[in-house]
Amino acid sequence: MNKPEHENARVLVVEDEPQMAEGLRFNFELEGYEVRIAPDGESGLAEARAWAPGVVILDLMLPGLGGLEVLRILRKEGVWTPVVILTAKNQEADVVAGLEAGADDYVPKPFSLAELLARVRAVVRRSNQTLGLEQDVIALGSTAEVDFRKYEVRRGGKAYPLSRFEAEILRYLISRQGEVVSREEFLRDVWGYSILPTTRTVDNHVARIRKKVEESPDQPVWIQTVHGIGYRMSELGKP
Ligand code: CA
Repeated sequence: MNKPEHENARVLVVEDEPQMAEGLRFNFELEGYEVRIAPDGESGLAEARAWAPGVVILDLMLPGLGGLEVLRILRKEGVWTPVVILTAKNQEADVVAGLEAGADDYVPKPFSLAELLARVRAVVRRSNQTLGLEQDVIALGSTAEVDFRKYEVRRGGKAYPLSRFEAEILRYLISRQGEVVSREEFLRDVWGYSILPTTRTVDNHVARIRKKVEESPDQPVWIQTVHGIGYRMSELGKP
């Protein structure tokens, strides 16, 4: 049995089709994961809160409370457990909405188990990585600082929590400060996708980050828009 390397080897499968759910349980258990199944959105939400899984596999089409709602509620509550959503075929809008709501990855149905296992491993590995900067706390001039250990921005005596992707984007921008970074590069290097139906995901995340790091989000000093391409982080010593 291959015991997964990571500490939290609990997989919560939120899936209403019993055959699919049991198939996933069987295969994840073979891989050394501990598995629980929630057959609907409400129980999925309860298990995600109480059991503290290392990853949630979340079907979007659920009776009652849908998968997207479950995801939105968890993120709103500040639960950042990695979530891989299962989307129906040809439902690109669901993929976009899911990523917007804070999913870490998606796998379209029907999928191969090998692919799902690989995605889950990658998501868990990413979530266990430190953000890879030498310092945990980076000062943005004298006005703000980013704490990559606590996932928060502190500015003007207030702390603003960062989602994992917001922190990843900031880290990526800081590591490339002064350079223009295209939306496609963000998708490739932060999300790990070569193709996404829209790059709006990047813009929406950046808009949220600006509200945290910028004094005036409409006139950003730190994260500049490079029209038609992407964004550029001001050099940290500068403004
Ligand atoms: Ca379903």
